[in-house]
Amino acid sequence: MLTFDNQFRRELPGDTETSNTTRQVNGAVWSPVMPTPVAAPRLIAYSQEMANELGLSTAMMQSTDVVNALGGNGVFPGSEPYATVYGGHQFGHWAGQLGDGRAIYLGEVVNAAGTRHELQLKGAGPTPYSRRADGRAVLRSSIREFLCSEAMFHLGIPTTRALSLVATGDKVVRDMFYDGNPEREPGAIVCRVAPSFTRFGHFEIHAARNDTGLLKQLVEFTIARDFPELDLPADPIDRVGAWFGVIAERTAVMVAHWMRVGFVHGVMNTDNMSILGLTIDYGPYGWIDNFDPGWTPNTTDAERKRYCYGRQPEIARWNLERLGSALLTLTADESTEANRLVDLLQAGMAKFDEIFDLATRQKLAGKFGFAHWREEDTPLVNDAFRLLVEAEMDMTIFFRRLAGVGIDPEANRVLLADAFYRQDLREIHQGALDLWLGRYLARTKEDDFAQPDRAALMNRFNPQYVMRNYLAQQAIDLATAGDNSMVIELLDVMRRPYEMQVGRERFAEKRPDWARQKAGCSMLSCSS
Ligand code: AMP
Ligand code: MG
Repeated sequence: MLTFDNQFRRELPGDTETSNTTRQVNGAVWSPVMPTPVAAPRLIAYSQEMANELGLSTAMMQSTDVVNALGGNGVFPGSEPYATVYGGHQFGHWAGQLGDGRAIYLGEVVNAAGTRHELQLKGAGPTPYSRRADGRAVLRSSIREFLCSEAMFHLGIPTTRALSLVATGDKVVRDMFYDGNPEREPGAIVCRVAPSFTRFGHFEIHAARNDTGLLKQLVEFTIARDFPELDLPADPIDRVGAWFGVIAERTAVMVAHWMRVGFVHGVMNTDNMSILGLTIDYGPYGWIDNFDPGWTPNTTDAERKRYCYGRQPEIARWNLERLGSALLTLTADESTEANRLVDLLQAGMAKFDEIFDLATRQKLAGKFGFAHWREEDTPLVNDAFRLLVEAEMDMTIFFRRLAGVGIDPEANRVLLADAFYRQDLREIHQGALDLWLGRYLARTKEDDFAQPDRAALMNRFNPQYVMRNYLAQQAIDLATAGDNSMVIELLDVMRRPYEMQVGRERFAEKRPDWARQKAGCSMLSCSS
């Protein structure tokens, strides 16, 4: 049914201990671990595209064997489950060994076309890396990861994917508000899929332990398996330096996409940074409603706002520096090699800046419908964002509707009215918006670009539908009451996020008032 080729397990050193008791794992990059069976696995939803990619038919997806395997009751033939060792900087501080505390790799599936995918069950029970936690995941966070990772894929943003969402039939105890009132919540397991789940933290941990041999081995393995298309120099220093530059580029592209659509990851710790520049680990993420660079969905970060929307590029850069520092331990202190590698790592950081700026300019041109970005567009664009902040306008609706503005000021007012959350702010800022639109329309005339072409361009950069926090929460509330229909409908809506879908207008509406301060809609805890 699935063809496994478990290269990671085969080629890299594994843990000799086989129990899943919590421990420090040294001298190995993975530990064998089996999923812990659950009471009654039931398939809530699955991604048709991902199933196709893996060669799983509808009948297979619904078969007892497959649902059991996706729920951790039994394993696919050829699967050899394991969890991996990684560390990470959390909220700016080195946190030591973390590892896959509740993600269990099923192995590497090679599809009919020869493409390799790693499969992981998230929430399938304890591993040696579970520390004091249970290795489980609740339904609400699993729905959020399942829906958002597929939504990101369809938005054209590099991301890990989700194959399936399975209810376990077991309860999981969580203190959602960290207020001493734990509750029993329904449990679930997402099967997630990516070419590689390797994180910055996978390298940091061996560097922190001065295990240069293991670090080197993991670097060579990763380059060979996860970057087969690269033609890197043979010299070991040049090789690592050039590879780092590629990681920096991919990270820059990913973050530029996040900024384009108003996605806030929420927990950009280095253990949540993918080596392939994929959006990974959907926890207390959120989508910008009213545009506010200081907004973070993560309640744990509400005070310091380290991971707010506007700081994501800077944090990505900081995380890359941590990875660079880890890679630098491959060379002896103050050696010629070390000096050479420092130069190359710095060139990699410069690559991040260059690619991030390039991608941002290209995305801004697309969002505003300019044929090309021109440096002199900066004030016009900055003024738009300032207006969005001051008038508390919805980012997604503003940009989507901007494609339809024309010479009639009254029609423009009607068109953009929905972007305002507050009538009082609308009254205050309408005049400024009218003036801005005047400048904007003058600018668009400077392009040799017919209006329909401009609108078509903008509609490729500005989604009609994003995975708004309150929509996910509505789907969660219904699913918790036993009705999965909205999970399935949202998944379907998000398959074509740039198209107007007749009858699905409600999925494009701004956050309603009731959701403004509701948990899950405007703010999220890390409890999951
Ligand atoms: P996260 O904040 O979800 O990125 O997780 C940070 C670390 O905590 C990772 O090592 C996770 O594997 C671990 N972790 C989070 N939740 C659990 C859980 N319920 N059981 C075991 N480990 C967990
Ligand atoms: Mg994580």
